[in-house]
Amino acid sequence: MNANVHEVAVRDVIAETSDSVTIVLDIPDHMTHEFEYSCGQFLTVRIPSSTTGSVARCYSLSSSPSRDSSPAITVKRTAAGYASNWLCDNIITGSVLTVLAPSGTFVPSTLNQDVLLCAAGSGITPIMSIAKTVLAGGEGAVTVLYANQNRASVIFDRQLAELEREYPQRLDVVHWLVEEKGVPTAAALADVVGSYTFDDVFVCGPAGFMDEIEKALLSIGVAEQRVRRETYRSLDSNPFESVAAPQARPTTGNAPVLAVEIDGQNHTLAWPKGSTLLDVLLDNGIDAPYVCRESICGTCVCSVRKGRTRMLMHDALTDDDIEMGVTLACQTLPESDEIFIAFDQ
Ligand SMILES: Cc1cc2nc3c(=O)[nH]c(=O)nc-3n(C[C@H](O)[C@H](O)[C@H](O)COP(=O)(O)OP(=O)(O)OC[C@H]3O[C@@H](n4cnc5c(N)ncnc54)[C@H](O)[C@@H]3O)c2cc1C
Repeated sequence: MNANVHEVAVRDVIAETSDSVTIVLDIPDHMTHEFEYSCGQFLTVRIPSSTTGSVARCYSLSSSPSRDSSPAITVKRTAAGYASNWLCDNIITGSVLTVLAPSGTFVPSTLNQDVLLCAAGSGITPIMSIAKTVLAGGEGAVTVLYANQNRASVIFDRQLAELEREYPQRLDVVHWLVEEKGVPTAAALADVVGSYTFDDVFVCGPAGFMDEIEKALLSIGVAEQRVRRETYRSLDSNPFESVAAPQARPTTGNAPVLAVEIDGQNHTLAWPKGSTLLDVLLDNGIDAPYVCRESICGTCVCSVRKGRTRMLMHDALTDDDIEMGVTLACQTLPESDEIFIAFDQ
């Protein structure tokens, strides 16, 4: 079994709303190291399927590494969705889940800045983790803007109110209920967020909500680089299914030369022009880290130290990351003849 794959028991299942549950994991002492995580990261869960064997889905950790003794994910049913409904219907205390170790890059670089955290629906899960962690471990002020259809669909309603009582000087929670105020538009959102001061912004929710928030932020002069977004979608790939045996990819006589530093070891390889960096490494038996292979998780992040490369997609990276030479191995193709990559992130 892949060393990154773990089987963990479920300690508790908490009904949050009529269509969402929090699943608390029971991590045994000998596995605590594998389950160390940062606020904003996610777990990838294997869900059995009678047609395909299994599917893989990412779920953000709603727990805080500094406040909560056990990691937890919160799953909201997606209409006609396979995995979310399976988890909500089948997981009980004592169930065993197959998961990959935490990963993801939707993580604040410091806990000491003022943050604006914007969520809609199940997008609250990484936002809750970040809010609790900044409040517990940092000094910054936290504003949570949280949009939902109505009061009954507010996940963590009670916990957010309790946090506000615990941190009256540092936390403001602003609820936007569509049944009362209508669908939030950029102009209306700008009015709300414009009255707060903050450094970085974290946004998670349906695409339409994230687009409106981004327009709102732009309209009040917030630089794009200060806004991080986490995009929810179902994985097409399945990191739990066995990976094909390493295969020799066709190389032309003048394939670029790749020097790579990973896990303290150096390798020199031919990098066929149409192959991604991750494929080349795996084909050569090098145990490179990865989860989604679709640019969303950021697990295969590394740095281009010499030479030129290009990425097909880069959802998990910010413009600043890219400017600093950070790249996603699963999306990186060679552009120059000699390239040096380091897995140093
Ligand atoms: C980093 C990350 C973090 C996430 N965190 C969370 C979280 O904390 N909580 C949470 O609830 N979710 C989270 N998600 C989303 C989650 O991974 C799943 O995408 C979500 O639960 C839906 O999965 P599903 O299997 O239930 O739905 P799916 O079966 O994948 O279906 C999704 C939608 O597509 C439609 N669909 C499915 N198959 C087809 C088809 N063949 N043709 C047309 N339409 C189709 C379905 O009707 C449904 O509307 C996260 C995603 C990512 C990437």
